[in-house]
Amino acid sequence: MKKITLIGLSLILSCVVHPQSCEKQDIKLQVLGSGGPELNDGRVSSSHLLWVNGKATVLIDAGSGSAHQFEKVKGNSEDIKAILLTHLHIDHSADLPAYIKDSYFTERKNDLWVMGPKGNNRMPDTSVYLDKLFGEYGVFAYMKRYWLPKARSSYKIKAIDADLDHAVVQRHPLTDEISISSIGVHHGPISAVGWRVDMGDCAITFSGDMTNKYDSLTKLARGSDLLVANYTIGESATKRAKNMHMPPSIIGKIANQAKVSKLLLAHLMNSSIPYLDDTKTLIEKIYQGPVLVAEDLMIIDLE
Ligand SMILES: [Zn+2]
Repeated sequence: MKKITLIGLSLILSCVVHPQSCEKQDIKLQVLGSGGPELNDGRVSSSHLLWVNGKATVLIDAGSGSAHQFEKVKGNSEDIKAILLTHLHIDHSADLPAYIKDSYFTERKNDLWVMGPKGNNRMPDTSVYLDKLFGEYGVFAYMKRYWLPKARSSYKIKAIDADLDHAVVQRHPLTDEISISSIGVHHGPISAVGWRVDMGDCAITFSGDMTNKYDSLTKLARGSDLLVANYTIGESATKRAKNMHMPPSIIGKIANQAKVSKLLLAHLMNSSIPYLDDTKTLIEKIYQGPVLVAEDLMIIDLE
């Protein structure tokens, strides 16, 4: 009887406590690209930038147009400590070489971490993707000194192939202040992970493209100050579309279960934009926090 009471108490506490404290920290999330792969939606492909103490510190996805947006917002590529790729689809990774090339024109001395999913039978490991770009026989082998360990260069690109395990959160410490975590998510046959960035007591989670077949994102996002969820399809999308992307009801369910403080709908497409009003109404019935809709260059202040 006593045991049941304690379990009950801990359940009540876990419902009441919302760890949310980006206060006292200068952290901003900027949407560089709020769109998907289509070139007729007026939006740059998927990309988000975390500004920490006024510096462009972590880039999450680098879809086409990301590098140009980075230039517009006056980011300095030397400041980027890590680039996190949710998966290697073109609308999430196409601009990565542009960021590497820019480093040639800077005084960059610190290694650059590029973290992305391990491969599967459809997609390469992130390290293989980098090797096919910058390796000895890569298409951009002229930049190989930044990738090959023995070549002389001012810094190195360091790869992490994040495990696709969807049961356990993987941790990848980055600096004393910033910790990165990932978990495998289901994106049809494509290897994919969700990312979480913790800075002190402040946390932001990125779903990437996913369904919720593995029910893994809630675990990763728990207590985050912001969940960036890719909103790619309407609620009445086909079964085929739902095997690649999550409908709004699932986004709402994850935000609610993970008790995130704010929700940002990102990666909008022609298959989701027309349903935006209905989607917000639907999500607000399931999730009580603020629901924001991403626009290119939008800044979300997390102080
Ligand atoms: Zn995508």
